[in-house]
Amino acid sequence: MAKQGNLSINSENIFPIIKKWLYSDHDIFIRELVSNGCDAVTKLKKLSVMGEFDEPEGTKYRVDVSVNPEEKTITFVDNGIGMTEEEVDEYINQIAFSGAEAFLNQYKDKASEEQIIGHFGLGFYSAYMVADKVTIDSLSFKDGAVPVHWECDGGTEFEMEEGDRTERGTKITLYLNEDSYEFCNEYRVREVLEKYCSFMPVEIYFTNETAEEEEAKEDIPEIVDETPSEGEETELNDVELDEEEEEEEKGPKPVNEIHPLWTKHPNDCTDEEYKEFYRNVFHDYKEPLFWIHLNMDYPFNLKGILYFPKINTKYDTIEGTIKLYNNQVFIADNIKEVIPEYLLLLKGCIDCPDLPLNVSRSALQNDGFVKKISNYITKKVAEKLSGMCKTDRENYEKYWDDISPFIKFGCIRDEKFSDRMKDYLIFKNMEGKFITLPEYLEAGKETYENKVFYITDEIAQSQYMNMFREESMDAVYLTDQIDSTFITYLEQRNQDVQFMRIDADLTGNFKEELSEDEEKEFTEKLAEIFKKATGEENLILKVEKLKNAETPAMITVSEQTRRMSEMMEMYGMSQSMTGMGTQGETLVLNLNNDLVQYVLNHEESEERTMICQQIYDLARLSNHPLKPEEMTDFVARSNKILGILMK
Ligand code: ADP
Ligand code: MG
Repeated sequence: MAKQGNLSINSENIFPIIKKWLYSDHDIFIRELVSNGCDAVTKLKKLSVMGEFDEPEGTKYRVDVSVNPEEKTITFVDNGIGMTEEEVDEYINQIAFSGAEAFLNQYKDKASEEQIIGHFGLGFYSAYMVADKVTIDSLSFKDGAVPVHWECDGGTEFEMEEGDRTERGTKITLYLNEDSYEFCNEYRVREVLEKYCSFMPVEIYFTNETAEEEEAKEDIPEIVDETPSEGEETELNDVELDEEEEEEEKGPKPVNEIHPLWTKHPNDCTDEEYKEFYRNVFHDYKEPLFWIHLNMDYPFNLKGILYFPKINTKYDTIEGTIKLYNNQVFIADNIKEVIPEYLLLLKGCIDCPDLPLNVSRSALQNDGFVKKISNYITKKVAEKLSGMCKTDRENYEKYWDDISPFIKFGCIRDEKFSDRMKDYLIFKNMEGKFITLPEYLEAGKETYENKVFYITDEIAQSQYMNMFREESMDAVYLTDQIDSTFITYLEQRNQDVQFMRIDADLTGNFKEELSEDEEKEFTEKLAEIFKKATGEENLILKVEKLKNAETPAMITVSEQTRRMSEMMEMYGMSQSMTGMGTQGETLVLNLNNDLVQYVLNHEESEERTMICQQIYDLARLSNHPLKPEEMTDFVARSNKILGILMK
């Protein structure tokens, strides 16, 4: 006789809530039901080890997922522990239900802002997000167990009676609701299985029932009215036959890998295995630079592999993926609450069975245990990097361009990481050698005290680099996008050190003594001439006696003003809005240069105006590109000058 009952007194509204809730993540019901099947198998295996279950010879544990697009069903079958009627009553009608109810009560009002990680805890009843009716057919492993059939159409009542299942284990069938027919589509379900179940610990097989029927039909021999007359065709048929036989021998393959690489001991993994795992999981065919295998049992359980990806160009947005697992069950990608933000630039898998996942994201953020996990990962990453710098400096330098954005971001974001990495920050200098900040400062302590000169653009700043070379001065390359922020960070950490772009100033090394009177006189004179010739009313001009007499003029760009305007640009404010048309540019004229002397000592003429304009444009060109119309003028004027030369 069928047993009927009420799920719970408060259940009137739980199904509608389950159905509507988390509409973007309906696919997790597949994870929940497959992982229940895996759990059922794991439990039975344990009983077998304990001697409480006599495992028949040749037992192959598995979970089978199948869809039937015609019937609009999706089913989950396992050959695990199974349930008796009493157990269904206890675990499904009471425990699972109250679990789902408690879960929903806690989160139904907060769904939008306080999503729980991976929506853990909904369990069996998550099936009702996509199904109108769910049935359970189970046969317990216990001797003499009677099969049980349970069904519930999403109302408050369920029915339970003796079933007809003859094999040990549980079959769950979902009759999909109209909005969820996608979940009887073969490709959609494969995709979801790949997302959540790729590394679950029991073999999972997937079939499309209607496709199987079709295949069965195809197997019926067709009446062939023409026998092949040519030898070639016969041969072809033979080959096809062979292939079919082979496939049958191998049998269908599980959709998952039950021993993902991170579960193995690092000593048992080869480089090739690490690379292959990386390719398979991240579909990235560039080889990773190196990796870290995390393997911790105490005081908490955490395993995983973190890869440093190869960044193709510096224009690539570096964006990694850290996949979080709980006992080989995929939870979600890139959970900032558990994994420090800068680590999200890496690619990897982290499996942490101890994580409290049925809590909200904001609760996770303040969880001491989560902090410990995050600290542990940070420590391991810093240890790997610093260890490499100490013992394998050659590779550390080779990889620096790829790993430095990550290290810099980590230092800026995480004080602990920054403390651990501070002695392992290296900088490429003008000779192409990697040096540390203290090494740079030591080498330059007599000439430029506590200044660090840096290059952001080798081409635009080549003239300045040449001047540096002539004076045996050094500068370091800081060309990454993150470097402007990193420089600010370095200055904060090293209060007495000041960073200056190589074109920010022409220090004493490059020039000869100039008296105040001389300076005043020539500045005034030349300012008048150049403002008039160039039409730049706001031109800022300075005179110097540069050692290098061949250069008539150079542009310097004030470090502070430039940083300001870069910041403005970052926040989307245009130059005109900020009223800084020249971006802190100064035209430095060289009194030691013949052209400048010519300009000073000749009356205004067409030639003199052209010389001034040309000096100005050339100085700017050796600092940055000209605007289109300025470039047009420059080219026209250059041609005109060539014409004069010809006369
Ligand atoms: P959880 O898995 O977190 O315990 P669920 O709601 O997913 O919560 O499942 C509730 C209970 O129902 C499980 O603990 C288990 O006892 C039982 N159960 C669910 N699915 C199966 C299954 N396929 N085989 C055996 N027992 C199951
Ligand atoms: Mg479960």
